[in-house]
Amino acid sequence: MKKWTTLIVLALFICLVGCEFPTTTKEEHHYDEGTIIKDATCTKTGIIEYTCLDCGKKKKEEIPLKDHDYEIVEVESTCGEVGYFARVCKNCDYFEKIQEKSPVDHVIRSKVEEPSIDGSVGTKRYYCSVCGKEFLSFPYVENGFSRFGKLHVSGRNLVDANNNSVQLLGISTHGLQWFGRYVNYETLYACKDAFNINVFRFSLYTAEDGYCESGSKRREELYQMVASGIRIATELDMYAIVDWHMLGADDPNDKNPLYYLDEAKEFFDRISFEFKDYDNVFYELMNEPNGSTTWSDCKEFAEEIIPIIRKNNPDAICLIGNPSWSADLTGPMRSPLDYSNIMYTYHFYAADNMTIQNVIDGYNAGLPIFITEHGGMKSSGDGAINERNVNRWYEALDSRHISYVAWNLSNSKGSSSILKQNITVMNSFADGYLKEWGIFYKKHIKQVLGITE
Ligand SMILES: [Zn+2]
Ligand SMILES: [Zn+2]
Ligand SMILES: [Zn+2]
Repeated sequence: MKKWTTLIVLALFICLVGCEFPTTTKEEHHYDEGTIIKDATCTKTGIIEYTCLDCGKKKKEEIPLKDHDYEIVEVESTCGEVGYFARVCKNCDYFEKIQEKSPVDHVIRSKVEEPSIDGSVGTKRYYCSVCGKEFLSFPYVENGFSRFGKLHVSGRNLVDANNNSVQLLGISTHGLQWFGRYVNYETLYACKDAFNINVFRFSLYTAEDGYCESGSKRREELYQMVASGIRIATELDMYAIVDWHMLGADDPNDKNPLYYLDEAKEFFDRISFEFKDYDNVFYELMNEPNGSTTWSDCKEFAEEIIPIIRKNNPDAICLIGNPSWSADLTGPMRSPLDYSNIMYTYHFYAADNMTIQNVIDGYNAGLPIFITEHGGMKSSGDGAINERNVNRWYEALDSRHISYVAWNLSNSKGSSSILKQNITVMNSFADGYLKEWGIFYKKHIKQVLGITE
């Protein structure tokens, strides 16, 4: 009997289990492929609805977010903002910066606002030509090459094409063998703007480790400083003076320009050929002859050099020195050179108590005079500025439209260098950086030009 019971229980169990599974299968729905009620986007989930093919039962499911549809956009840098590459979605406002581009500087331009070209005081403005941002503005008189053009000598005057007399006002470099670092675009640009000058003189010393005492490599470097100075001055709309700075400070032979005649011939031939198409370059043949040098030595030298320059540039204005450190015009008055387009140089240092009468006599005698060097101090280049004397000179020169150039653009020792000795800043000529002489001269030029600040 027990055996039967076991069999029955087993049979019941099998039956129960066997009947259980078919019952569950019977309740499963057979859904269709579904109908999208609302499709998903990259920002919102969607809804899909399924319908059972057997019983019509419906169920809804969520459609997950779709991927963004990326594209790469490139935004160029402007002077105001840094550009970038970014990944963005075509369908939503997803934005991811991938990489920044290089920043772009403002495109700084300057202009002198009306009235500009007639010598009246305008306003020089520095601004960005792209975004218009203004950086700086100050009173300025346009007095460069674009205003006066190619100059020539007419009688005793330096004149423009319409024979209007032109007064150039400028600054000379110190010896390029020591202070050539100032011959660069930023420095000369800043100097021109601050002083409102229109001529730079580039002093190529012959001696004192200068051009004639240097080996070929250094000689070439010094030549290139002058050449680069001319190019920069030209870019800055200025005139340039090439100064063959013979002086004899450390070599008595160098007191006479004839001593380095061969070097001078070669130099002037090369530089006047290189710049034969430039209408803004003056050639100063001899800085300061002195010692026993006579006016006839100076003439002889000039007669050698002028034809060399004129062969390359027939219209170049040549500036001729004279004995006694270019402070004695009696020679030229007595026996002038027989060339057109030449001027006689005169150098004065106002604290030396030099007489202005020599210049007035020369002027009255019809000599075209160009002061290629001067200072308010002693000719040693040091000591106090004699304001009373230098103002007297300026009165005499300005009333006659005689051009002048101040000594010197450097931070050398001595009161004649316009920059303070400890100043290493190369691109500012603000008063704080200047010695008394620099401040004085800057103010004076502005007075001449009618600028009141
Ligand atoms: Zn169903
Ligand atoms: Zn998206
Ligand atoms: Zn800008």
